[in-house]
Amino acid sequence: MKNSLVKRSWAEPYKIKMVELLKMTTKAQRIKAIKEAGYNTFLLKSEDVYIDLLTDSGTNAMSDVQWSAMMLGDEAYAGSKSYYKLEGTIQKYYGYKYVIPTHQGRAAENILSKILIKKGDVIPGNMYFTTTRLHQELAGGTFTDIIIDEAHDPTSEHPFKGNVDMAKLEKVVKKYGAKKIPYISIATNVNMAGGQPVSMANLKELRAYTKKLGIRVIHDMTRVAENAFFIQQREKGYDKKSIAQIVKEICSLTDGATMSAKKDALVNIGGFMATNEWDVFEEARNMVVVYEGLHTYGGLAGRDMEAIAVGIVESLDDNHQHARIGQVEYLGNKMMEYNVPIVLPIGGHGIFVDAKKFLPHLTQDQFPAQTLAAEMYIDSGVRTMERGIVSAGRKPNGDNYYPKLELVRFTMPRRVYTQAHMDVIAESAAAVYDRRKSIKGLKMIYEPKYLRFFQAKFEKL
Ligand SMILES: *Cc1c(COP(=O)(O)O)cnc(C)c1O
Repeated sequence: MKNSLVKRSWAEPYKIKMVELLKMTTKAQRIKAIKEAGYNTFLLKSEDVYIDLLTDSGTNAMSDVQWSAMMLGDEAYAGSKSYYKLEGTIQKYYGYKYVIPTHQGRAAENILSKILIKKGDVIPGNMYFTTTRLHQELAGGTFTDIIIDEAHDPTSEHPFKGNVDMAKLEKVVKKYGAKKIPYISIATNVNMAGGQPVSMANLKELRAYTKKLGIRVIHDMTRVAENAFFIQQREKGYDKKSIAQIVKEICSLTDGATMSAKKDALVNIGGFMATNEWDVFEEARNMVVVYEGLHTYGGLAGRDMEAIAVGIVESLDDNHQHARIGQVEYLGNKMMEYNVPIVLPIGGHGIFVDAKKFLPHLTQDQFPAQTLAAEMYIDSGVRTMERGIVSAGRKPNGDNYYPKLELVRFTMPRRVYTQAHMDVIAESAAAVYDRRKSIKGLKMIYEPKYLRFFQAKFEKL
């Protein structure tokens, strides 16, 4: 082949200025550690972990610009300069009018759910998220899933698996009436579906329909820039638009938002609630004082608000998203080469391995995804997490949810690991896959009441 025909690789638009040294462990040490952790990767000590893919939440590497912005933090109790910087950034890049900072995303969900939801209300959404649904339920509402069927099918290669099924939504509206629906809960890049995007066409259709009925669209914009990248790559008419332009357009089709800044916005802690409605803002401003702190800091230090403001702008850079999602795709393609069954298309924030397919000899009550996450740790010290029956939890009546998807999430922190780390992870998954038939399931021996996946304990069968 002529050199001029060789594919041109991309690489990260940054270089490394500081490194964090890691402890290397032996297999015997890891077997002991995971047993002590009750086969729950959330209960491992992070110093016993080599490559930590538990979550992309708050695990990002901040830039030198973010670190230096932290020195500008105005730690005034009231009216902090850093708050106005954050507010201005959100207004400029996302377009929402009013902003309430919170210490992280679920705090924004708590406040928003308490304000908008009345007992007996129904909240349709494009697949549940754990904390989002729990706050809706605690406020007296019931979540109902209106995502397209393809999202529940790990083999479907639909380019926008996060889309709302408009027929499902119309059915819910007919059944309960628009008055019982305070808002539609729309996540951009649907976490629980594997980091799958919503299309702009779908959002426009949803906006037109909800406008007619006077129903709000509330945007869980935790990974909106990653969603925008997929729109740019896949949707007609968007290949020449910048991620910043696409993000602004997405937000313009919704009425308010909750955000965990610990993902897209490249910080270690933070979040906010935003709304275009003065009344909702007024009430949120009252409520944030009870749960978080004054409305100009909402549980955050001034320095955190500075870092978020810079991180939001960095997250909208096209080269950043190309490298971020490119790294996830690199890992996914490598796993496919080794025949490891993963959810397709490859999502934005991680690789989701299909544990039902990986361990077909285990029933869902034997926790295949929980089992596989423990086995990955034993093999190489790579920490992943369960997204299946344990995460799905129980219905308000006490029955288990039995989700169709039983996945292990390999979530990628932003700007943290190198391509060599990706090779180690894929090779480890391949090694576990080769000995899959000898792997036994788990039994739950301790179950907390809320969000059980964080603290549940297991024993080998
Ligand atoms: C992480 C996350 C949240 C909750 O945010 P926290 O900052 O963890 O409280 C809400 N929605 C989605 C889609 C998330 O990924």
